[in-house]
Amino acid sequence: MDTELGQDPGVLPADALDRIVYLLDRTLAESQKVRAFARARDVVIEVGDAEVERLHAAGKLTELAGIGATTARVVAQALDGAVPDYLAQLEAETVLPLGEGADLRAALRGDCHMHSTWSDGGASIEKMARTAIALGHEYMVLTDHSPRLTIAHGLNAERLRAQLDEVAALNDALAPFRILTGIEVDILVDGALDQSEELLSRLDVVVASVHSKLRMERQEMTRRMVSAVASPHVDILGHCTGRKVVGRGRPPSVFDAEIVFAACAQFDTALEINCRPERQDPPDELVELALEWDLRFAIDTDAHAPGQMEWQVYGCDKAARHGIGPDQIVNTMPAGDLLAWTATHASPG
Ligand SMILES: [Zn+2]
Ligand SMILES: [Zn+2]
Repeated sequence: MDTELGQDPGVLPADALDRIVYLLDRTLAESQKVRAFARARDVVIEVGDAEVERLHAAGKLTELAGIGATTARVVAQALDGAVPDYLAQLEAETVLPLGEGADLRAALRGDCHMHSTWSDGGASIEKMARTAIALGHEYMVLTDHSPRLTIAHGLNAERLRAQLDEVAALNDALAPFRILTGIEVDILVDGALDQSEELLSRLDVVVASVHSKLRMERQEMTRRMVSAVASPHVDILGHCTGRKVVGRGRPPSVFDAEIVFAACAQFDTALEINCRPERQDPPDELVELALEWDLRFAIDTDAHAPGQMEWQVYGCDKAARHGIGPDQIVNTMPAGDLLAWTATHASPG
């Protein structure tokens, strides 16, 4: 065994590259850049330690397809027993500061909105779950997209059933951590939901979001959203305005928030505080309005990669600024209580 030599095992090249991917995702880095490191990680794993070391000794790491100058440097430094410079730099520079929402963040027990490679996420369900565990969560809700969001590889009924089997197997392996089943179901133009009644009723948590025809006329959009909020399947209204505030951005959808939030209050549907930095949805004035209606909130990351699961700090800061307390946030509940709450939405009989 190498350990008998008393050497510091350092960091394995694949682990260093994987951690870099995580840290880049934490900063919402350009996807092209993240993909380059993810590809390098996969190549290193595929080629195997012995071959990677041989190429390193020969100074030929960049001869591997998918390994460029920067990624080769990371691999070389790791093989030489050092923490790669780039990794150390990212560890130091990408830490997300805990602000006024620190207490709320500490009170969160899970995250109710995230995606895996089953739809448009970048990591497996297991990897997302292990990240959630590392972040101190007791549970996560897996909410991959519904079928009509074809651009995001939304799951049809058959694939969703297959996913439920995988989740069940993972839950056996990861207990006491729990992966709760779920979906981010599209709210179709007429307000109907993009998945079968039978499947929606089987899922633990349903997040409903608008992803198409965001520029719909005000009254129609209001009717569309109220229909979804009133559905006995829907537990959380996702990123309600659809706005984007980074880069080219996207204006918020236009709807009568008084009516939509009145429906949320009536049907006890929680309003999502979406933590994605480019969304920051809902805007502050709508959070204030939601407080007037005494709505429940869900502080969710909508993570499409493990590193993005740290973004809950943003939503917690926002909630704290509005004076929202832990008892107003559904994902401060233990899993059992959360499930009891979502079960109250299901239609009787
Ligand atoms: Zn969405
Ligand atoms: Zn989402």
